[in-house]
Amino acid sequence: MKRIALYPGSFDPITNGHIDLIRRSSQLYDEVVIAISFNSSKKNLFSIEERIALAKDSLKDIPNVSIIRHTGGLTVDVAASIGANVILRGIRNTQDFEYESNIATLNKTQNSSIETVVLIAAEHYRFLSSSMIKEIALFGGDISLFVPPVVEKAIYDKYKNDVKRNLHTERQ
Ligand code: ADP
Repeated sequence: MKRIALYPGSFDPITNGHIDLIRRSSQLYDEVVIAISFNSSKKNLFSIEERIALAKDSLKDIPNVSIIRHTGGLTVDVAASIGANVILRGIRNTQDFEYESNIATLNKTQNSSIETVVLIAAEHYRFLSSSMIKEIALFGGDISLFVPPVVEKAIYDKYKNDVKRNLHTERQ
């Protein structure tokens, strides 16, 4: 039987931290399916189409990874529909642990045959989040260490006309 894992998230946008986790999990499972979703509690910078295109481009060298769009339904139902009995998530710190253990427990109440497997973030990516990267880019900082070049360009294109990139301070 093929071992399929579902990795759901908003990926707004995909970062080197996500990619590291996907690369590692692609060694553990026959197929890793990334479900790019709409997260109602977050305001997205990129549309779902843009997030899918950026992830596709960033993951093109990993053969057993595919991407699906997830805009409705429970994560466990998406997993069951593609034959995945594992939901993959990543943990960077104790805050992630709290959050992920709550979701994992809730998911278990909805479908007890699907397990959540969490991978611990690589040490050098523990501080990385899509939102911190967007914040650095918004203020004109260097994000080249944190995202693939295609994502770096896409973020800068979004922010290129933003006034926050110009240094502005006033002595008070
Ligand atoms: P969501 O909106 O579902 O939290 P994210 O795209 O922010 O989606 O994250 C998806 C998953 O990837 C989460 O489990 C998150 O903890 C994990 N993750 C995010 N950044 C990293 C990272 N730098 N290293 C490892 N895992 C990460």
